[in-house]
Amino acid sequence: MVEDADAILNKPIRYVKGVGASRAALFNKLGVYTVSDMISYFPRSYEDRSNLKKISQLTDGEFCAFEGTVISTVTESKPRKGLTIYKLYVGDETGTIIATWYNQHYIKKAFKLNERYVFYGKISRRYRSFEVLNPVYEKIDGREMKNTCRIVPVYPATARLTQNVIRQVIENALELVIGKLEDTLPRWLRNRYRLCEYNYAIQNIHFPDSGEDFRNARYRLVFEELLLLQLGLLSIRNSLEENRKGIQFSKVHEMESFVESLPFRLTEAQRRVFSEIEKDMESSKVMNRLVQGDVGSGKTIVAVLALFKAVKSGYQGALMVPTEILAEQHYKSVKSLFEGRGIRTALLTGSLGRKQKGEILAGIADGSIDVVIGTHALIEDQVKFHRLGLVVTDEQHRFGVRQRAVLSQKGVNPDVLVMTATPIPRTLALILYGDLDISIIDELPPGRKPVKTYVVNEKMRERVNNFIRKLVREGRQVYIVCPLVEESDAIEAKSALELAERIANHDFKDLRVGLIHGKMKASEKDKVMREFVEGKISILVSTTVIEVGVNVPNATLMVIENAERFGLSQLHQLRGRVGRGDHQSYCIMYNEGKTQVSVQRMKVMEETCDGFVISEKDLELRGPGEFFGTRQHGLPDLKIANLYQDMDVLKKAQEAAQEILKKDPMLKEDENRLLKKRIKEIFFDKMDQLSLN
Ligand code: ADP
Ligand code: MG
Repeated sequence: MVEDADAILNKPIRYVKGVGASRAALFNKLGVYTVSDMISYFPRSYEDRSNLKKISQLTDGEFCAFEGTVISTVTESKPRKGLTIYKLYVGDETGTIIATWYNQHYIKKAFKLNERYVFYGKISRRYRSFEVLNPVYEKIDGREMKNTCRIVPVYPATARLTQNVIRQVIENALELVIGKLEDTLPRWLRNRYRLCEYNYAIQNIHFPDSGEDFRNARYRLVFEELLLLQLGLLSIRNSLEENRKGIQFSKVHEMESFVESLPFRLTEAQRRVFSEIEKDMESSKVMNRLVQGDVGSGKTIVAVLALFKAVKSGYQGALMVPTEILAEQHYKSVKSLFEGRGIRTALLTGSLGRKQKGEILAGIADGSIDVVIGTHALIEDQVKFHRLGLVVTDEQHRFGVRQRAVLSQKGVNPDVLVMTATPIPRTLALILYGDLDISIIDELPPGRKPVKTYVVNEKMRERVNNFIRKLVREGRQVYIVCPLVEESDAIEAKSALELAERIANHDFKDLRVGLIHGKMKASEKDKVMREFVEGKISILVSTTVIEVGVNVPNATLMVIENAERFGLSQLHQLRGRVGRGDHQSYCIMYNEGKTQVSVQRMKVMEETCDGFVISEKDLELRGPGEFFGTRQHGLPDLKIANLYQDMDVLKKAQEAAQEILKKDPMLKEDENRLLKKRIKEIFFDKMDQLSLN
C-alpha cells in the first residue's frame, strides 16, 4: 500500500488524467513536475460558491453564486472596435438579472434557452436592474458540480492554464493518492498539537467541504512546513557546533589605538556588536555570527575591526562581496584604514590581468597578503590561503549558503561573520537564522538627515523632471530605477527597458545619462556603474535593482518608477542608496497601484526610514497568498506558511523541533523516517551542512 503511494508520487505529471505534453510543459513552468508536486501545489485563495442565493437577495458589489433559468438568447453588441459585449437574461422565481461578458466569443453558443445553470461572479447594480459581470457558470444536469456550488480553490496560475483546468487536473491527481498517503508526522506529535491526518489535510486544502475543514487542513500543513524548516536549521546548527574546534584569537592591545585612529567615533551599537564578535573570536568555539543593521548603520567598519583582530593574531582574513564595484569601494577604504598598521591588503576580482592575478594568488598562498577583498573570484579553486582565520561575507543574501561554506573550507574552521542589509524583526530573525548567532546594529551614526520621501503619480512627471534637472544643475547625481520584477516576463521586461530608454534617450538626452539593463553583460554594467561612481554620469537609469551597498555620497535623489511592484524592504534598500553625504536627499516613488494595500504600503515609506519598522510592516501588509521572501535569506521557499500570520504556529513548531531532536538527534527512529526524508528534499542544496545523514 505504502510502496504504492510512493511510486505514484514520484511519477511525472503526465501520469495524471488530463495532462498531455503541452499541459505538462505549462505545469513544469510553475515548478510542478511530479504527482507529489501537483498535490502540494496549494491554492492561493478560495471562493465560496457553496452558498446559493436567490436573485432578489443579491447585493451590489458582492461576489455571489446563484441559480437561474436562461430566459433569453444571447445578444451581441459591438460598441467599438475590438469590444464585443454579450448579454443574457437569467431568472428565478424572485427576479431577473443580466449576465454580461466582454469579448468571450464562445458565450454565443454556450447556453440553451429554459435550461438551468449556476452562476458565480461580481454583482453590480445598474439603475434599477442587476448585472453579473463575466460570471463563471455551470449547467445543472444532475452530475456533480465542479466549479460552482462548493468552496472553489483558486490557484496561482499562468495565463495559459485556466483555473478550471488546474482544478480538474489536481482533482484527478488527488484521486490517485488520497487514502494511500503515509503521514509525515509521528502520531504523538499530531495528538499533542491537534494536527489532522495527512490525507485529510491534502484533500481539504484543495477542496474543503467547509471553512472548518479548510482551517484544520491549513493549520496542519503550515505546522508541518515550519517544523521541517526548524528541524533543518537546528540540524545545520548542530553540525556547526559538533566537535569542531575553532581558532582562539588573541586579545589585541593595538585595537584601542586603531579604534581611536578611525575618522569617526563608533556608535554605541557598533561598539556593542564588536564586543560580541570579539568574545566569539577569543573563544574556542567556531564563530557563526550574523550582523544585522539598517542601510548605512555602519556594518563595514565592524567587519574591518574583526579583520584587524584576525591579522594581529597572526591569521589572514577574507571579505567577500557580491559585485566588483563594491569590492573596489571596500578595498579602497579598508586599505586606507590599514595604512601604516603593517597590514597588507589586496583586491581579487575576475577582471584582474593574468600577471596581477598571479601575484596576488601567490601572496595569498605564502601569507604575504593579510587581508583579501574580492568577489566570487575568492572561491575559485586556485585561491589557496596560507592561514585563513576569518571569513566575512557582505550583503549575504546575494550569496548562496554553499558559497559561504566553500570560502570557509579554504581555512581550518575559520570564524565566520555574515553581514546582511535586510533588516527583519528580531523575533523572526531568531527563528529564521536558527543556524547563526545574531548581532544587531540598531543605531545610525549621528547627523544623518532622513531622506525626504514623496509618493507621486504620472501627473507629476513634469515637475519631477524639473526637479531632477535642478539637482543636476547644482552638481548632484540621480538614480532612476524602472523595476523588472520577474526577469522571465518578456512583456514586462520590454516595457521596463522601453521606459528606461525613453528616460535616458529622450527626457534627459541633453544630460549625461547612463543606462543599465538586465540584458547587459556584467562587465558592461560595471563600466557604467563605475562612471557613475566617478561622477562622469549625472543620471543613472536602470531596469535592475542597483547594486546593493554602493556608496555614491553625491547622489541625492532616487526616483523609483512603478514602486508598487517592489516589496517594501526592497524600496528601503533602494532609498538607502541616497542620503549618504552632507546634502539633503530625496526619494520619489511613482505609484500606479490603486488598491488600499498599495496605498498603505506607500504611506509606510513616506512615514518612516527605519528598516526594522518597514520590514515588520512589509510582513503585515502582504496578503495571505504572498509570503515572506525566505529565498532572500538563503532559506527554502515556503509554500503555505505566512511568517507574519503564522507566528504562533512558528513558535510551536520550533518547540516541537527541539523536542524531536532532543529525543532523536539524527532522526534515526522509524517514526521520524519521513521527516528526515522531507528535510533532505527541502534543504537539498545545503546537504553538506546538515548533521543528519
Ligand atoms: P552599511 O551598514 O550600509 O554597510 P556602511 O558601513 O557602508 O553602511 O557605512 C555607511 C557610511 O557611514 C560610510 O560612509 C561610513 O564611513 C560611515 N560611518 C560608519 N560608522 C560611522 C560612525 N560611527 N560615525 C560616522 N560615520 C560612520
Ligand atoms: Mg554595507
